[in-house]
Amino acid sequence: MTQPDLPPPGWHPHLWHPTTQVALAAPPMRAVQGRGAILQLEDGRRLIDAISSWWVTLHGHAEPSIAAAIAAQAHQLEQVIFANFSHPPAERLAERLSALSGLERLFFSDNGSTAVEVALKIAWQWWRNRGERRDQLIAFEGAYHGDTVGAMAVGARSLFSAPFEPWLFSVARVSWPQCSWEEPAPERQEQAALAALEQALTLPTAAVILEPLIQGASGMAMVRPGFLQAVQERVRAAGALLIADEVMTGFGRTGALFACRRAGLQPDLMALSKGLTGGFLPMGVTLASERLYQGFISEDPTATFFHGHSFTANPLGCAAALASLDLLEAAPERYRGFEARHRPLLERLRRHPRVERPRCLGTVAAFDVKVEQPGYLSAVGRRLQSLCLEAGVYIRPLGNVVYLLPPLCLSEAQLERCYAAIEAALDQL
Ligand code: PMP
Repeated sequence: MTQPDLPPPGWHPHLWHPTTQVALAAPPMRAVQGRGAILQLEDGRRLIDAISSWWVTLHGHAEPSIAAAIAAQAHQLEQVIFANFSHPPAERLAERLSALSGLERLFFSDNGSTAVEVALKIAWQWWRNRGERRDQLIAFEGAYHGDTVGAMAVGARSLFSAPFEPWLFSVARVSWPQCSWEEPAPERQEQAALAALEQALTLPTAAVILEPLIQGASGMAMVRPGFLQAVQERVRAAGALLIADEVMTGFGRTGALFACRRAGLQPDLMALSKGLTGGFLPMGVTLASERLYQGFISEDPTATFFHGHSFTANPLGCAAALASLDLLEAAPERYRGFEARHRPLLERLRRHPRVERPRCLGTVAAFDVKVEQPGYLSAVGRRLQSLCLEAGVYIRPLGNVVYLLPPLCLSEAQLERCYAAIEAALDQL
């Protein structure tokens, strides 16, 4: 491997950016302010953040009510160790999320990966606490559940996980019968996936983990609710646990508060993060059923769930999450109605000769760019990104998959600008 001269111009000598190859990428843009859907750069440019800064900015940047809630909480109680202590914002958040999700118990962590890891560990240990060995986990092809080791293990093997292959425990895999507007309903693929699931479930299985309705990072791959209901039936029949990773789909992203609701699923465990705090602060939660919680209550200390992060239930994060829920509950039409805003614009864009497999669910719209070599490393994504930036729109395609996942505050004019920028960029390819 040749060593390029580092750091190249434009890169800070002391920072290390995520999923970024310095030798190939453009240097980062310096952001100085965020307001609503707009990111203001130091050089004066104003960009529409069409992907909610990695899918976290739910309402808009610097949303005043969330900023105020965090500030007020910071003056009251900024942090307290959550073993031995509890506090009102954590309790209120647990009560509200329990009522909304149908899962009674809430365990806090710091991000989406840890929320998934916690779900996996709870599921695994619950069976052991019962004295029953169920050593198999089942996940879907193409899944992405995070970058920590356990989350990587249940995720699809990929470019991201390849160097760590020997660390990753093995998982049974079932295919993901994705669909788009253009193809007939993937009934055969769904049947094949269900047959594979049934086969896998003949081994004692602790849990099945899935991203309900949309696999995000693998390319906004959408499945039909009926397929997921059939998955749930089979998981229940085998007595295994169902884990819903709603890290991306939670909080209105699919047009319902939770994708599980839209899909008709009632999981045993649910992982949430990203939009949880409105995108203001890093926090993850894992919701679990009371039945699972009770499986850890014992006079035998070894039954304890020995997992805890320093910042568990950080009061600032809880205050932000409560303020974010207030906003969602005050204006549910903002997430429920987003799909109807995307549809006509995506309908027009799909006529472009480079566009294939258009698809849309809630606030998420996506399509594939026709290229000879599709995939995450396809250069077409980087090219489209730079062309859209010139038009004042920030997107971050997943290789040849282009998607929009904007904050709920995005105006109609801003949404049209996003589509216009993408169309013009496609013309220039
Ligand atoms: N699960 C899903 C479905 C995700 O989309 C992501 C992040 N893209 C994660 C887990 C991991 O979350 P985080 O990046 O906060 O660790």
